Amino acid sequence: MSYTAPLKDMLFNIRHLANIDQIAQMPEFEEAGYETAQAVLEECAKLNEGVIAPLNWDGDKNPSSLKDGVVTTTPGFKDAFRQYAEGGWQGLQHPVDFGGQGLPKTIGAACGEMLNSANMSFALCPLLSDGAIEALLTAGSDELKATYLENLVSGKWTGTMNLTEPQAGSDLALVRTRAEPLPDGTYRIFGTKIFITYGEHDMAENIVHLVLARVVGAPEGVKGISLFVVPKFMVNKDGSLGARNDVHCVSIEHKMGIKASPTAVLQYGDHGGAVGYLVGQENRGLEYMFIMMNAARYAVGVQGIAIAERAYQKAVGYAKDRVQSRPVDGSINASAPIIHHPDVKRMLMTMRAYTEGCRAMASVAAAAYDAAHHHPDADVRKQNAAFYEFMVPLVKGYSTEMSLEVTSLGVQVHGGMGFIEETGAAQYYRDAKILTIYEGTTAIQANDLVGRKTARDGGQTAKGIAMQIEATEAELAGRDSVNARAVLKRLKAAREAFVDVVDFVAGNTKASPNAVFAGSVPYLMLAGNLVAGWQLARALLVAEDALARGEEVAFMQAKVTTARFYADHLLSKAPGIRDSIVEGAESVTALALDSF
Ligand SMILES: Cc1cc2nc3c(=O)[nH]c(=O)nc-3n(C[C@H](O)[C@H](O)[C@H](O)COP(=O)(O)OP(=O)(O)OC[C@H]3O[C@@H](n4cnc5c(N)ncnc54)[C@H](O)[C@@H]3O)c2cc1C
Repeated sequence: MSYTAPLKDMLFNIRHLANIDQIAQMPEFEEAGYETAQAVLEECAKLNEGVIAPLNWDGDKNPSSLKDGVVTTTPGFKDAFRQYAEGGWQGLQHPVDFGGQGLPKTIGAACGEMLNSANMSFALCPLLSDGAIEALLTAGSDELKATYLENLVSGKWTGTMNLTEPQAGSDLALVRTRAEPLPDGTYRIFGTKIFITYGEHDMAENIVHLVLARVVGAPEGVKGISLFVVPKFMVNKDGSLGARNDVHCVSIEHKMGIKASPTAVLQYGDHGGAVGYLVGQENRGLEYMFIMMNAARYAVGVQGIAIAERAYQKAVGYAKDRVQSRPVDGSINASAPIIHHPDVKRMLMTMRAYTEGCRAMASVAAAAYDAAHHHPDADVRKQNAAFYEFMVPLVKGYSTEMSLEVTSLGVQVHGGMGFIEETGAAQYYRDAKILTIYEGTTAIQANDLVGRKTARDGGQTAKGIAMQIEATEAELAGRDSVNARAVLKRLKAAREAFVDVVDFVAGNTKASPNAVFAGSVPYLMLAGNLVAGWQLARALLVAEDALARGEEVAFMQAKVTTARFYADHLLSKAPGIRDSIVEGAESVTALALDSF
């Protein structure tokens, strides 16, 4: 069950679709050109292939365990995390001022994919630290930054995100955890948080919890939520660790997947109150948490791509090995490896096309994030910020839903052996399922896409993206190639379907919300499908040029074939989805509640 990082594909995207050399012209990224990307990715692949991937299977079979309030992670995890931290990987994208390497997200996202392909359960720990770091960087006081950031960035300490409570999941307005202000400016926190990833573990010296709570007397609903830092161990003035804070792990969950990642129930304040420090201002907690969630949502999308890649690699290996049935075209006059059967190839191509399409989409979104933060021109920053914001629910929602289909196909390629745990394909399927749930379910991503990203600006950002797609169509139209023509036909139809849906959403969200939200997830899927297909269309143009020059023939030919497959088999679904959104809302909502 080895893993080989898809470096060629990642570097192709980084160079040709995300244009890393343009990013390297932006202030603070001068060192971050293609050669840096290549060197960093190669080094990252070594650690993930050699150290972290071999622990994935062990984690599933020998998950984290809790005894007397102490969580022990899978043997090997602690040492692997030490190597990860010592290699500077936690700080890859974080500011140099706090000990990070200050590299662009365009490079960081590819490294994140490798880590998650290698071992999703393990990768969750650094993923949540990244979110905590982003929240502190954006909203933390100088004192909080000075106390916590360096140790989080170095991986000496880790971070968590504490939103969920038994009665408050998707609906954070229902958060009840209480914060009592003290005259010294600190707060005492009381309450129960559930499902807290790496809420307790043995891989780092301290755990920095970022906790949503309601200050006593705060307004009801989301407007009364504040964000606090609650360290597991108090931090003394000289930076050394002090007393244990009043936050304790009372249980960890038994789960369907990501078993090695400890999912904790945390009890705050059972012994007098946990000491908490306000982040930013009171009652603005949800706003700050969104910063963290946006980073985490993108990262969860990358988890989807990562697990899909791992499932694909495993399925290809099996399909080349397993001998069963004679090929229908008579090319082999005996039972042959199953990869000779067209339907097995269809499954493998579906897995490959989804994965490459979503990887390309995520890479381009990461480049937009980098430009939104670093481009010298304010207008360019603004355009890129709008594009990235639009992409976050797509990267999260579409890439994770596709990972379920891909990992399911991975089991299918293995036949009965896929259903048997020892084979390993089932683990990817079980692990993938959480991705469409945490950091906001797919429905919550779709609500974001409809409300904040489409209806709010009357569909302007969405239509701007459609115009960029038209520019790619114009390039395809200028090509004298069968593949370019075939891709053009599907891309144009999908883009037109998308624009129809954007008009429907922008025009009806206020007047007929049920009709629009009945199609919100299909709209998300249509948008994600379109953007992934668009990026593969761009990839096809690059690959055809490279082929004309005789460069990297096998890789480029495969890219053209994969882009063509995506257009023929996945992008082609878009017009049907448009119809079900625009014409099918009634049948979603018509059935009376007591008929269910
Ligand atoms: C393994 C694991 C790890 C987790 N890690 C963390 C963590 O580190 N920190 C943390 O704070 N939380 C964490 N969570 C919690 C996770 O984010 C929530 O489970 C998730 O947000 C969904 O909330 P819920 O479970 O209460 O489901 P509910 O909110 O009850 O949702 C149930 C169903 O209703 C739908 N639904 C709800 N509201 C709407 C709506 N407005 N529109 C349309 N459909 C809707 C949902 O899409 C879903 O299908 C984790 C959960 C798990 C299982």
